Amino acid sequence: MRNIVFLSGAGISAESGISTFRDARGLWDTYNVMDVCSAEAFRRNRQFVLEFYNKRRRELADKTPNAAHRMVADIQREFPDRVLNVTQNIDDLFEKAGCEGTIHLHGELTKARCEVCGNIWDIGYADLVGTELCPRCGASRVRHHVVMFNEQAPEYMRLYESLDELHANRGMLVVIGTSGLVLPVEEFARYASYSVLNNLEPQAAIDDRVFSVHLYEKAGTAAPKIAELARRFLDSDQRGLRDGRAETAS
Ligand code: NAD
Repeated sequence: MRNIVFLSGAGISAESGISTFRDARGLWDTYNVMDVCSAEAFRRNRQFVLEFYNKRRRELADKTPNAAHRMVADIQREFPDRVLNVTQNIDDLFEKAGCEGTIHLHGELTKARCEVCGNIWDIGYADLVGTELCPRCGASRVRHHVVMFNEQAPEYMRLYESLDELHANRGMLVVIGTSGLVLPVEEFARYASYSVLNNLEPQAAIDDRVFSVHLYEKAGTAAPKIAELARRFLDSDQRGLRDGRAETAS
């Protein structure tokens, strides 16, 4: 039985020095996202896209988790088998923080995938140059294990299963650092009996009234408050909290 689902986006890794999509001073001022992160771009120029992700992978090597990643790992350790961690992020900061079984909806930078047999394996921070062979089937169609625009995202099925489970178990959803443009997190909150939203600022795509609590501040400073709410939820059966009484704690 899982009682809390954490769902994060690029914002949770911002304090660790990884650009979000919408950060004006970020990576996405330099690149047009559809030129580098789409199925079409990859078909057009395989080497260019592989190199784009090589750079992202190299940048990741010295990045360290922040208080929000560590908070999720701590709650997971304190409440074994009751916490599921789901992220849209392709970085490895949850793993570095000690989280177990994180579902990466959009893949992982530190893994490669064979386009022929579907094998997925760890490559750490190494480059993919386009001549690698799959260690399982020997094919030379090896690529980054990242879901790009206009590609299938098979892990979404596990997210939907976890939301059904959350609904059945009257669980808690914690959403951190996502604009809600890719995933309809506002809809997801309706599955939970208690829900927390943490972003830097209100987002046009998210009606925060659906959430029990919203925290508009950096994930690192929100982390202790989220941890407290999570512990209270998991520890107690106080009806007020479990029934999702609306409150604002910002
Ligand atoms: P987004 O860039 O659309 O939105 C970022 C959100 O994070 C905003 O709501 C913003 O308010 C919030 N935010 C920014 N700094 C924050 C902070 N310090 N603390 C708390 N919140 C903060 O991100 P998204 O919704 O995740 O969607 C973009 C897509 O980009 C995702 O699908 C993801 O796969 C991909 N992406 C991943 C990474 C990564 O792996 N770290 C980085 C960039 C983009």
